[in-house]
Amino acid sequence: MNPDCGYVLAVVPYREHDAMITFLSENHGLMRLILPGYYKPKSKQGKLGLEYSYVKYESKFNDNQLNRITGGELLDGYLTRRSDFDWLLYSSCLSEITIRCYDEEYHDLFYAMFAKGLRDTSQVITLIELVKNIIEIQGITPDVTGCVICGSSLISQFSVEQGGYLCQQHVRNHRHNQKELLIALKGLFTRESIRDYLEEIDAKQVLSVLIDYLEYHGDYKFNSWKLISNV
Ligand SMILES: [Zn+2]
Repeated sequence: MNPDCGYVLAVVPYREHDAMITFLSENHGLMRLILPGYYKPKSKQGKLGLEYSYVKYESKFNDNQLNRITGGELLDGYLTRRSDFDWLLYSSCLSEITIRCYDEEYHDLFYAMFAKGLRDTSQVITLIELVKNIIEIQGITPDVTGCVICGSSLISQFSVEQGGYLCQQHVRNHRHNQKELLIALKGLFTRESIRDYLEEIDAKQVLSVLIDYLEYHGDYKFNSWKLISNV
């Protein structure tokens, strides 16, 4: 048995009393593990099946089989933040996007982003960074050099469907975007970090466009995001 640390992304009932854990482990990547007896009334495993927590699990971690968790400990339950409903919502979004888009080749990035997302005081900004990276990894990066139709730099809309900016002449449905949004999207895909700028503006609006973009071009639907955008 080798212990491995990592994050609990999802917990669902499995068979009669067990739980199926989706675990983002530091050394073995994203995997599903069985937590035996988790739903038994007197279970001693309670602390090992907490969604969005940092844990150490003991298991065989064999590839190509469903492994059982035989022991371990809760390392951080983020107990001070857990009562914050927004934290739970954004953590579930972080978790769903990680599970759906995880790519073994970029394990370190996904792992670091999830860790940061649980700790960050601005989870929206971590999510923006995560989704931006996924868009680049999947090779669906938008064209942010100018209007995608004529090349004009007088941009006034970001079009998810067109995959980039549109100028005042080619704008669709008179849907002009706020200048801050246009600047943020250009900055995101041309510079290393624009965290300072994102902290100044309505970052949720930027995240919303990026998630729409990933859903449209990557063919996803994220239920947790639907929940957030309806709040
Ligand atoms: Zn144009």
